[in-house]
Amino acid sequence: MKIVVHSGTVIDPANNRAAALDILIEDGQIRAVEKPGSFLTVGDAGFDATGMIVTPGFIDMHVHLREPGFEYKETVLTGTQSAVAGGFTTVACMANTNPTNDNGSVTRYIIEKAQAANLARVLPIGALSKGLKGESLADIGEMVEAGVIAISDDGRPVMDSNLMRRALEYCSMFNVPISVHEEDLHLAAGGVMNEGPTSLRLGLKGIPNAAEEVMVARDIMLARLTGGRLHIAHLSTRGAVALVRQAKAEGLPVTAEAAPHHFTLTEEVVAGYNTNAKMAPPLRLLDDVDAIKEGLQDGTIDAIATDHAPHHHDEKEVEFDQAANGIVGLETALPLTLRLVNEGVLSLSEAVRKLTINPARILGLPYGALSVGAPADIVIFSPMRAWKVEPKQLRSKSKNTPFGGWELMGSVALTMVAGRFVYDERT
Ligand SMILES: [Zn+2]
Repeated sequence: MKIVVHSGTVIDPANNRAAALDILIEDGQIRAVEKPGSFLTVGDAGFDATGMIVTPGFIDMHVHLREPGFEYKETVLTGTQSAVAGGFTTVACMANTNPTNDNGSVTRYIIEKAQAANLARVLPIGALSKGLKGESLADIGEMVEAGVIAISDDGRPVMDSNLMRRALEYCSMFNVPISVHEEDLHLAAGGVMNEGPTSLRLGLKGIPNAAEEVMVARDIMLARLTGGRLHIAHLSTRGAVALVRQAKAEGLPVTAEAAPHHFTLTEEVVAGYNTNAKMAPPLRLLDDVDAIKEGLQDGTIDAIATDHAPHHHDEKEVEFDQAANGIVGLETALPLTLRLVNEGVLSLSEAVRKLTINPARILGLPYGALSVGAPADIVIFSPMRAWKVEPKQLRSKSKNTPFGGWELMGSVALTMVAGRFVYDERT
């Protein structure tokens, strides 16, 4: 079966393409990318992308799908419905499920659920430590064999430096990166938001920037010691960005991601005890937000990842101190990233790069580019189309977003995985 996506503006950073082009898809693969009008289309086999942007499907290297164990928050099915609606064709899901994904059988269970859902590609990330307890290494070899593409205790930092060292050494043997959630639990103890003017005013216990930065510094030193591949998740502070910049200048195998909320919002959103602004790491000050943007601009920050963290209404409709950390992010990531393009922080190609080929390379995936012969994972979107975020209308099972009521620009029209339409706004 042949499909032609015609008359769109193709942005494909991996192949240096940014032009009006037609794409021929056959048997689930990109067959050819040529100037408009190169391919004949008949009936349903064409998609007219006039006025739209056509890019490789987005890859989110940091989501929480909550299954097994927390299906009341999200399932692999609802999470991937949310993913494809947001233009994501591949998501890497964190291990803090119940049971924890710290062995091959849980990994295989998640992969089976993803095959049944048959929407986005789901790549499990295995736990670093058994039960995320930070005490002993999980069955990393067994999980890699079962299909995990990275290792992480995300949600929890690895406080034991020697365990972290051994994990970096061990993962090098399998050539998988370790994604780290950087938070010194002693410095952060009892903190529920950023330590700054807003926490003082609200009388809430704060988490200082240093809680993140001391751990980033330690792990960079351990990457230097071991040569292991370190990926730093959700950078939130100016100091952490500076440390990663320095590590890269030194040539260390360190990569980093930022989440849309950390380049969009400041701690002031917490005012009024808004539990949908509660997350870890917390929203910081404007100076930190500016530093994240600078890091995205100069390449210090490789990838944009959502940290999609669905929670039930009842876990957010409580006192701020008690509320769960995190927000849903898959369906707002594209328009929030396009704000950076409109602000001149990133070109459209650079923005797309951070959502596609960069995370693909960090994770060693054959996706993220519209190369001839590659799987036809494609998203088509209208960059100027405005829409209002209505939490109830999100595909995710959870509605915990701080962006409810926001008017955003940039709307997904079509998402394709291996040439199959998995999201179509017309239906
Ligand atoms: Zn985290």
